[in-house]
Amino acid sequence: MASIWIKNPMAIYTANAFDARGGLLISDGKITELIALGANPTQPFEEIFDAKNLVITPGLINSHHHFYQTLTRAWAPVVNAPLFPWLKTLYPVWAKLNPEQLHLATQVALAELVLSGCTFAADHHYLFPEQLTDAIDIQVQAAQQIGLRVMLTRGSMSLGSDAGGLPPQHTVQEIDTILKDSERLVQRYHQRSEDAMVNIALAPCSPFSVTQDIMRESAKLADFYDVRLHTHLAETLDEENFCMHMFGMRTVDYLESVGWLNSRTWLAHGIHFNAEEITRLGQAHVGICHCPHSNMRLASGICPTFDLIQAGVPIGLGVDGSASGDASNLILETRQAMYLQRLKYGAETITPELALGWATKGSAQLLGREQHLGQIAVGYQADLAFYSLDELRFSGAHDPLAALLLCGADRAEHVMIKGQWIVKNQNLVSVDLERLQAEHRIAAKQLLAA
Ligand code: ZN
Repeated sequence: MASIWIKNPMAIYTANAFDARGGLLISDGKITELIALGANPTQPFEEIFDAKNLVITPGLINSHHHFYQTLTRAWAPVVNAPLFPWLKTLYPVWAKLNPEQLHLATQVALAELVLSGCTFAADHHYLFPEQLTDAIDIQVQAAQQIGLRVMLTRGSMSLGSDAGGLPPQHTVQEIDTILKDSERLVQRYHQRSEDAMVNIALAPCSPFSVTQDIMRESAKLADFYDVRLHTHLAETLDEENFCMHMFGMRTVDYLESVGWLNSRTWLAHGIHFNAEEITRLGQAHVGICHCPHSNMRLASGICPTFDLIQAGVPIGLGVDGSASGDASNLILETRQAMYLQRLKYGAETITPELALGWATKGSAQLLGREQHLGQIAVGYQADLAFYSLDELRFSGAHDPLAALLLCGADRAEHVMIKGQWIVKNQNLVSVDLERLQAEHRIAAKQLLAA
């Protein structure tokens, strides 16, 4: 792999941008040098890539999604529904998902993400009907074809409607089946190297769709194999009421009671906490993935990001599944996070730099990869997003980094993962997008007609 000098960017998002005004050097898939303005690299290089018209950020990192939901976007029966009725209407549709549909849905979600500047994405998959027991194996293949790094989570549902849960009984699995498959997937796919392309995590779906047993056993298994734990928590007041009614406790007590209140855990949403709960989450370093679009669409509430940060909670960003997201566009999600959080904490507090930090370093921390991903620094993986400001919406903009969010950048010009170009001139290098889209459209129709 050739060494490349990414030379003289218009702007660069690093801890100290002055260190890298002359760009950065990449070799063997890693960042090997930051170069001051006017200086030359001290190490040898074979190529120069002129970045003078480009804003560079670390590759964005998405820490919560449900890729399969790209097949049920903007579906009329749930367009105006809040979480519980939304789920109850969608569960029976999702239960019919087949392998080919999941493959296409995964590829579409990943393609959208990478075109927006995302280089590493977590997916929460919890549907394993009998025709789809190898769902994660399918996703591994689909991700390899697109070329993104992924954190695929072996999700689960085990509390069906017969036992007081929300999902229909036919969509849940037995605890032994779930644990066995979790173990198989970790052993088969989880990579531990600093340049790992596939990670596996364990992810019982939510308090209203799993038993306490599966939560406890998943935590033990994750501890044994040293993998991450993920679930939805404190998303809506309906969920809080469910926990009080079903378990006789609030969500954070529930989390603690099943052995999840620790730094191995990252939660999607994390909205409805009181001050004492925020303190406990901070002390335990539980991570929280903020999903602003989804929270606004379902009118779930606003994540108390800044209170959580002050308590010591790492914050990352996620587009959430495409039935509530509905677009998998992480740079627009970052913009939305900044604006939604400004309503709660004020314009002075929530800066573009802070929001970009959630989408990069913050998400990397949630996924346990902060040592090697999410920053432009020597020794880090060469995962980079390049944005052009050569569009009408940016014309006359003064601060290029602020312009990315304020003017609404929605597409990366180029994207590099592990030193390789995955997106060049706004196009995926190795994927026929037109064909993918045509097949995906048919799959979405078939799923709803089935
Ligand atoms: Zn979700």
